[in-house]
Amino acid sequence: MNICAIASGSNGNCYYIGDESEAILVDAGLSARQLRLRLESREINTSTIKAILVTHEHSDHCRGIRVLSNQLQIPAYITKKTFLAIHKKNRPEKVRWFEPGEYFNIGSFKVFPFLKLHDAVEACSFRVECHGKQIGVMTDIGTLEESVQHEFSLCNAVFLESNYEEKMLREGSYPYFLKERILSGHGHLSNLQAYSLAETFGGKNLKLILLSHLSGENNTPETAISRFKLLQGKYHICLTSRHDATEMFTV
Ligand SMILES: [Zn+2]
Ligand SMILES: [Zn+2]
Repeated sequence: MNICAIASGSNGNCYYIGDESEAILVDAGLSARQLRLRLESREINTSTIKAILVTHEHSDHCRGIRVLSNQLQIPAYITKKTFLAIHKKNRPEKVRWFEPGEYFNIGSFKVFPFLKLHDAVEACSFRVECHGKQIGVMTDIGTLEESVQHEFSLCNAVFLESNYEEKMLREGSYPYFLKERILSGHGHLSNLQAYSLAETFGGKNLKLILLSHLSGENNTPETAISRFKLLQGKYHICLTSRHDATEMFTV
């Protein structure tokens, strides 16, 4: 399995999971044009992409869904509630419904969607199984619930949210309501929360953690990665970026 963060951060998210013949994307939160440029930059043949999975309605996850799914002539997999919550101009035209907690198949991918706490109508994360490997895409998570811990423990590789450093957020320039939103338990995971999840629930198959959805204001790549220093020997820990696709990782 090959995986890559095409874009990751509060300005846009898109995650690639695939092999030579089949692939899926999780979210499409940049313009379709930008996403295609980044996919090409990693030599991904877009005709292998079979579907876009949608986690929730925030525009950093949905901005390019309608246009990209039309251009590639592929469906978006989405819950009905999330579909209705997406801004009309971004709603995909070709859709397949899914229910949180009920797995579904796309080619040789088996997709397990699970609910998470986040300030969206029906926010889901995904664990994707393919060729015996388990890939987690776990961003935009407010609280480390048992379901998140369980799904994490099954994974070989995870895109794991490491959104903010608490001190930087508390002392930073964000307005009070936004700080409260992020810290509320329906916002995002801090570096420390992400670390404690990895430290406590990393399973026997876990090899690779890609620190994802870093805040541009309340975190730095150096801060996030330094939080994971103690796990560096145990796992391969890498950063994703808002500015560019990551390298392609083989799992
Ligand atoms: Zn987001
Ligand atoms: Zn969100």
